[in-house]
Order: sequence, then C-alpha cells, then structure tokens
Amino acid sequence: MSDYYEILELSRSATQEEIKKAYRKNALKYHPDRNPGDSAAEKKFKEISEAYEVLSDEKKRQIYDQYGADALKGAGMGGPGGHTGFSSMEEALRTFMGAFGGGGGESIFDSFFGFEPEGDEGERQGASKKMNLSISFEEAMKGVEKEVVLNNYTVCSQCEGSGAASSSSVKKCSRCRGSGQIHQTRGFFSMTSVCPQCYGKGKTITDPCSECHGDGRVKKKQHIKIKVPAGVDTGMRLRMSGYGDAGEGGGPPGDLYVFISVEPHSVFQREGDDILVELPLSFSETALGCKKELPTPHGSSCRISIPEGTQSGKVLRVKGEGSPNVHGRGRGDMLVKVSVETPVNLNDKQKELLRQFGELEKEQNSPRKRSFFDKLKVFFSG
Ligand SMILES: [Zn+2]
Ligand SMILES: [Zn+2]
Repeated sequence: MSDYYEILELSRSATQEEIKKAYRKNALKYHPDRNPGDSAAEKKFKEISEAYEVLSDEKKRQIYDQYGADALKGAGMGGPGGHTGFSSMEEALRTFMGAFGGGGGESIFDSFFGFEPEGDEGERQGASKKMNLSISFEEAMKGVEKEVVLNNYTVCSQCEGSGAASSSSVKKCSRCRGSGQIHQTRGFFSMTSVCPQCYGKGKTITDPCSECHGDGRVKKKQHIKIKVPAGVDTGMRLRMSGYGDAGEGGGPPGDLYVFISVEPHSVFQREGDDILVELPLSFSETALGCKKELPTPHGSSCRISIPEGTQSGKVLRVKGEGSPNVHGRGRGDMLVKVSVETPVNLNDKQKELLRQFGELEKEQNSPRKRSFFDKLKVFFSG
C-alpha cells in the first residue's frame, strides 16, 4: 500500500487547499472518461480518490498520520474484506463528483475535462465543453446552421485577461519566486508540488481587476452558430476549435464538442449513406408490374418501375438518391424494399374473381411453393 501523501504528490504539511488541488489535478489525469479501457489508470484513479477521501477529512487524516491506513479500516473505512482501497469505481467516482459538484447547474455542458497546466508560468488551456444537438432528418440531409447559447468563461475585457487592475499591481510570487512550483526535500525524497500561494501562476496580484476579481475571465452568455454539414448521422461528433472556456494566464481556449442526434423519420431510414424506404404494393400491382412516383429524402421525387412478378422483400436500388456523404464524397443510394400486401376487405365480386383465378392457377405461377413441398416430400420419404 503506497502512502496517501505520495499518491497525491503532497508534503505531510499540505493544507486542505493543496490537497484539493492535488486531487483535482490527479483525478482529472486518471479519470476513466479520459482513459477508456486503461486498467492501470483505473487503479490509480481509485487510489487517488481513496487518498483524497482520507486526507480531506481532518479527523481521518489525523488517525492516518498516527497509525496508518489499517487503523482507519477499524473505524468503518475501506472496502470489504482485508482489501484496503475503494472496492468499486462507483465509490471513487462519487468522491470525484462530491469534490467538484458534478451534475446540475451547467445544464448540458460539463467542464470536468478541462486540460491541466502544461509547462510553467501558470498557463492553462481553458476547459473543453460538450453539448448535445438534436436535428431533424431533413436538416441532416440538407445540412443546417443552428444557433446555440453557451455560458463560457471568456477573457475579461476590462483587464484583457491579466486579472490585475493595472500592470503595476502584478508581482512575482514571493513563495516560489515566480516558478509556480515548490521543491521540498525530505530524507531521500525530493518532491515538487504546485505553489500554494499563487496556485502555479508564478505571480500574485496586489490590486485585482474589479470586473473579474483577479481571475482574468468572466462567465458570459454567447450566441454562436454551429454549421452542421449535410449527411451527419446520430453519434457523430463535431469539434468546434476554440469554443470552450477561455484559457487562464494567456493559455489557449478549450474546444467545444457537439454530439449530434438525428430524429428518426417516419418513412426514411438511414443505413450508412444509403436510405431505406419500405414500399407497400398490392398483390395485383406486383403480379402485373407497375410504375410508381416516390418522394426522395431530398424533397424531390423519382419514378421507379416495379417489374412483373416482383416478390415481397425485393430491394430496388435508385442510384444517387441516398444521403449525402458527410465528408463530401457523393451520395448513397435509395433502397426501395417492396412489401406485398395481401388484399383485405374484399367484396363479393372481387372474391368471385379471385376464386376463378385460383381455379386457373398452375404450379408454375408459384415456383417457391412448389419447391417447398417438393423438399418436404423428400424429407418424409427419406
Ligand atoms: Zn478583469
Ligand atoms: Zn508561487
């Protein structure tokens, strides 16, 4: 069992603020959503959450400092059996949500997946956002422009993102001397952690901007237009570069990911770039053959010929009348699936004519029926 402080890369004297910050940094790095299928990351995420669960509670932390992790198990902590650590991912995720107030508030957006600081000088990329966008079948065929409202962090216009009331109120951080990091040596170990005074920014502001209170960013409602290309389908994702939160300390903005869902159509069904449509025809139409005018998914119409003797289930292909390819590679086909409808609600005259027809029917009129009974004959005699 590793040491909780080591897991979170903290010194033993870390403050609650530092613990929370270290947990956030590590939990985001190893979060299962960012490391799908990676069992090593999953294990690490559980460890981190367990360490945070203990260290963020001063009572548990005190017991841990004095007697170690085993002592906490007796106090009703830990998983089942002799296993220390979170028994399940759900527990670890609950801790994560609890620490960062997941769910609610931000409607369809979530901002958990912001990028962590890379490099120094406190430059941070803004958080990336995701949103769901539902469009109609017709809009997916033609392409559409949708206006949505984002509630993003944007660069504060008053201080232009510096967070300071004036340039003279920005001072180099006294604790880390501008590096944003603290180095500590304990015995054989040398540890680096984020400076608790400036949170890694390397500078402190003596007179913060009145608009953003020193953050350099403000939340603002923005109306943006999303261009949805023709041919999109449910499950596709559009990436809008730079439409996430503004960066901190001059860092680049995050991105916006738009997850598309297309409402199902009552007649047309998508199959890749092909569009499937079921065409019900009467028995006499399919027996004698006919011509039909059909609407296409593009709002135009096309004429198709049903040949004499067409069977139920037969698929006729109309070239180039399917969905546009989302990458601009032409169009798919429209697939017309014939469905023969047995006549119902017959009047006396119709019944009489069908009876006469039945008497005239020959084996060659129903080749499938004949072959079926031929096979059964072999089955019984063999
Ligand atoms: Zn400002
Ligand atoms: Zn500092």
